[in-house]
Amino acid sequence: MLSKKVKALILDVDGTLTSGKKPILSDDIKNWVINSNKFFYTYLFSNNPSRSRIKQIADQLDLEFTHSGGKPSKKKLKKVIDAIPYSSNEIAIIGDRIFTDILVGNRLGLYTILVDSVDYYGKKIERNKFQSIERYLAKIITGYLS
Ligand SMILES: [Mg+2]
Repeated sequence: MLSKKVKALILDVDGTLTSGKKPILSDDIKNWVINSNKFFYTYLFSNNPSRSRIKQIADQLDLEFTHSGGKPSKKKLKKVIDAIPYSSNEIAIIGDRIFTDILVGNRLGLYTILVDSVDYYGKKIERNKFQSIERYLAKIITGYLS
């Protein structure tokens, strides 16, 4: 799936790795992230204002993290990326929201990967209201998605 060029992954947290109030990850998702961290420098970057929530998730994955990330603002993510020893086109951002994750990724020249939102159990949410609206708007605004 990923180009050989990609060396680092920036992962969104809410809706991408888990949903709901409790900072619990499904085994599938936990194993996927732990495994991907063997091949890619992996970092959690969340807009969630709760440091304790994102830290509890990051600790389960043994990853560094940012909370209150302010996506789609470039400011905080740029700092993180500048500290990663790869160029921006070797870094992928994976997230479930076009107007935060994908937009900031495009603004910083990252490889962007839009995923379906997951629920509390790590299962794909079939009809996600936010994503449906976002995809619709994105189609109108940019013709970005087919
Ligand atoms: Mg999200």
